[in-house]
Amino acid sequence: MPSTFASDDAATENELDFEPGSSADDSYPQHDELPSDVGLDEDEALADEIDDDLDDEGEPNDPVVYPVEFEEGRIDPDAAKVVRRLSRHGYEAYLVGGCVRDLLVGRSPKDFDVATSARPDDVRRLFRNSRIIGRRFRLVHVLFGGGKVIETATFRRAPEAVAERAGDDLLIKNDNVFGEAHEDATRRDFTINGLFYDIERRVVLDWVGGMPDIERRTVHTIGDPIVRFQEDPVRILRAIKFSARTDFGISPEVYDAMVLCRDALRRAAKPRLFEEVLRLLREGAAHRSIWLAWETGVLDILLPELSAYLADRPEDDSSVWRLLSEVDARTRSSQGSPDDIVLVAVLLLEPMLEACAGQRDRVDAAWEFMEPIVDRLNVPRRIAEPIRRIGAVLPRLQSGRVGRFARTNLYPLASEVAELYAAAHGDAFSVEEDGSHVITPAATSAPSRRRRRRRR
Ligand code: ATP
Ligand code: MG
Repeated sequence: MPSTFASDDAATENELDFEPGSSADDSYPQHDELPSDVGLDEDEALADEIDDDLDDEGEPNDPVVYPVEFEEGRIDPDAAKVVRRLSRHGYEAYLVGGCVRDLLVGRSPKDFDVATSARPDDVRRLFRNSRIIGRRFRLVHVLFGGGKVIETATFRRAPEAVAERAGDDLLIKNDNVFGEAHEDATRRDFTINGLFYDIERRVVLDWVGGMPDIERRTVHTIGDPIVRFQEDPVRILRAIKFSARTDFGISPEVYDAMVLCRDALRRAAKPRLFEEVLRLLREGAAHRSIWLAWETGVLDILLPELSAYLADRPEDDSSVWRLLSEVDARTRSSQGSPDDIVLVAVLLLEPMLEACAGQRDRVDAAWEFMEPIVDRLNVPRRIAEPIRRIGAVLPRLQSGRVGRFARTNLYPLASEVAELYAAAHGDAFSVEEDGSHVITPAATSAPSRRRRRRRR
């Protein structure tokens, strides 16, 4: 347990003021919209009672206990069912991770995860509708109607206790040893993701200083950020994602560590990197995410093509940011997030168009542009191939010369990219009855956004 996040660090005691809002539009509330009937009060009597249940050979593993009641209906009834059945059979079981964070900030959780003292085989036995998944770390998917899955994982502890580290190499290679609830909390990445909710007692168990950080609206690693980022550099992207999505600040110490450790991203597993880039783009906070990646220099590592493009643009050229804002607006509307192909195409569009400009063979030029990115991030061909075709065909779409391309499967996605591009550039874009596009250039150019200086 890192001392800066010792459980008595409740400096903001009694100040936490939030109430789970209904958040139908799935967007985060601003600070002053945050709810009001839940206090950051610790409950000492309850804490003692819970300590009695949790204590293990006198280890310093007492959580701070916060009574929190969520509005009726906000907790998924099937997740509650899983927790209750495990508890009835004598196991510890809690809601954990992203769902607790989202409930606390008034957002609808994407999914509900359960952590328990029960081993995978025990969980499997209790739920006929379940299956064990994963080879490296076995966990149980409890299946419900409508394709709903409640992921139920046995508590595990951080790998440092597993003696997997050699020399200076902190990269985690084995993350696979069962542990106790407090160990499962401290192995997690950020304090806001390390909270456990006890459904029966209606309390949040906080071993990591997560509640004060929720109240302060701050992303902070559990423990030393430099160590945590070296162990798993993908956490740098996760910090960006959570900060951008929740509009939480990143603590200065963590921000500095992101800048310092960003090179370690080169060592991370490429498919994880690409998946995290997609997550940065998908949640309606693409603009903020990529901005943060640019500001921290993380973009230089992931997509130097884009950061070089941004660095070369005049101060008042905000086209990349406007494109990302258009994506966010679309994602937040009822239409949901665009296809991954559209997301990545839009992210790379400006530098790709620049690379293709004036080239006789645009398809070739687009491919040359995409190739290093495909290598660096392991972009699957099913995404990379359509993107380069979109890059090559875009000028034709923009001038209405669609031809046979209108009959291809790629046409709807390419049109979406063209629409976003036109919207970002302030042009009116319409599709005529015969399928051709007409772009009416805006009378004046779009307002610019001041570029902030990037932190080095
Ligand atoms: P989302 O809403 O995007 O699903 P989440 O917080 O649920 O957010 P997941 O990627 O689903 O994020 O992970 C679930 C939980 O597992 C996290 O809340 C965190 O506690 C833990 N976790 C995930 N990835 C890591 C990591 N790289 N290192 C440590 N803990 C992690
Ligand atoms: Mg999740």
